[in-house]
Amino acid sequence: MTGGQRALDVVIVGAGAVGACLCHALSVRGFEVGVVDAETGDERPSIRTSALSRASLRHLSDLGLWPLEGVEASALRALQILDRGGRGRLRFDSADAGEEDLGVIVNHGLLEAALRKKARALGGPWYRERGEAATIADSGVEVVTKGGRRVRARLLIAADGAQSAIREQLGVPVLQYRYGQTAVCADIRLGEPHEGVAWQRFLNDGPCALLPLPDARRASLIWSAADQEALRLRALSDADFALALHDAFGDHLGSLRVEGERAYFPLVASHARHYTGPRFALVGDAAHRVHPLAGQGVNLGFADAHALIKTLQAARSRSADPGSHRVLRAYERERKAENLAMLVATDLLNRAFRDDRAWVRALLGTGLNVTDTLPMLKAFFMGAAGATAPRTTHDGP
Ligand SMILES: Cc1cc2nc3c(=O)[nH]c(=O)nc-3n(C[C@H](O)[C@H](O)[C@H](O)COP(=O)(O)OP(=O)(O)OC[C@H]3O[C@@H](n4cnc5c(N)ncnc54)[C@H](O)[C@@H]3O)c2cc1C
Repeated sequence: MTGGQRALDVVIVGAGAVGACLCHALSVRGFEVGVVDAETGDERPSIRTSALSRASLRHLSDLGLWPLEGVEASALRALQILDRGGRGRLRFDSADAGEEDLGVIVNHGLLEAALRKKARALGGPWYRERGEAATIADSGVEVVTKGGRRVRARLLIAADGAQSAIREQLGVPVLQYRYGQTAVCADIRLGEPHEGVAWQRFLNDGPCALLPLPDARRASLIWSAADQEALRLRALSDADFALALHDAFGDHLGSLRVEGERAYFPLVASHARHYTGPRFALVGDAAHRVHPLAGQGVNLGFADAHALIKTLQAARSRSADPGSHRVLRAYERERKAENLAMLVATDLLNRAFRDDRAWVRALLGTGLNVTDTLPMLKAFFMGAAGATAPRTTHDGP
């Protein structure tokens, strides 16, 4: 490692929602933080939204990051689940759980932009470049950017997303799995008001969700279709796409019309074998990526951030080195089991609802009606939202 520039406490590579949140929270707590982020373009709304759980809102609020200027949130009052035949129905209501809502829906691009703005305002060094190499030494870590800049710190946090170049540089093995599905996202104008309800229908080749937006007649579509089907949908005009969506989703929200562009995201599950090592920690999608059917990716990332901040603060109060592997292991222990459990649960749900075997179909059809026979499913969706004490209603035939 070369000499010269003084070492920071922390260098964060990647300032998506998770990296930006960490940068702000650590800087406010007196850590000297530098950021290397490849994002150089304009910050504007994205075509997709994120559901933020109550747990995430609590974490963000604790960190002084909620509410966020420029981020309009629509309250998620209930979640309505349908099976592919439209027979099984399951509804989770925030009122039944004694909560005002199950979380909120926000535009993901605006969420990232607002978090970056808060983080940048604190004035630490911020390099708008890709981090290309990372070298770990006993005394610290050095990140080399695409432009050849060298940033030194006692701890490296890799928050550079699912294709993390830093994770690869550090030689962390990762288990990766393509679902063979692509999420098709768009804003949809509804014939009927959504009343704060998120709908999710499990179709033959994946779930199709409509999430409520601040306008009572607009929703955000996340339709996880088989890759081939997504290709077919891509080729359709807006009018034909709306018809295909109406066929798939049903008449629950009246006529459906596409507003603006559509976006396509190939779906991948991944999990890093370890999240930490001497002088580094992985967070967010760099550590784990889950199927979006439960809207959990960034929520898990915020929980990682919360746990890592706690770990680093505790280390500082003992004057311990923030890059010591012994310190960082506490963060890994706290987060790995929950992240893995969510990865497995979303994977199983995605597979189960696509399974054509009669007994699986019968079980799911029954389960969605007689919800008390599936307490795990109930607990899963409510737990994912961060709510407690669920009482569900079922209104299927
Ligand atoms: C269709 C879809 C719907 C989703 N819906 C939800 C939802 O409702 N709720 C939810 O919780 N989650 C949802 N997710 C998941 C969520 O979007 C991700 O989990 C989350 O964005 C991960 O945040 P991150 O900050 O870890 O990584 P990213 O968002 O991937 O950010 C990574 C950052 O690192 C930068 N970067 C990358 N490489 C480098 C490099 N080499 N050097 C420097 N910078 C680099 C990028 O420019 C970016 O700024 C959804 C995902 C998809 C695909």
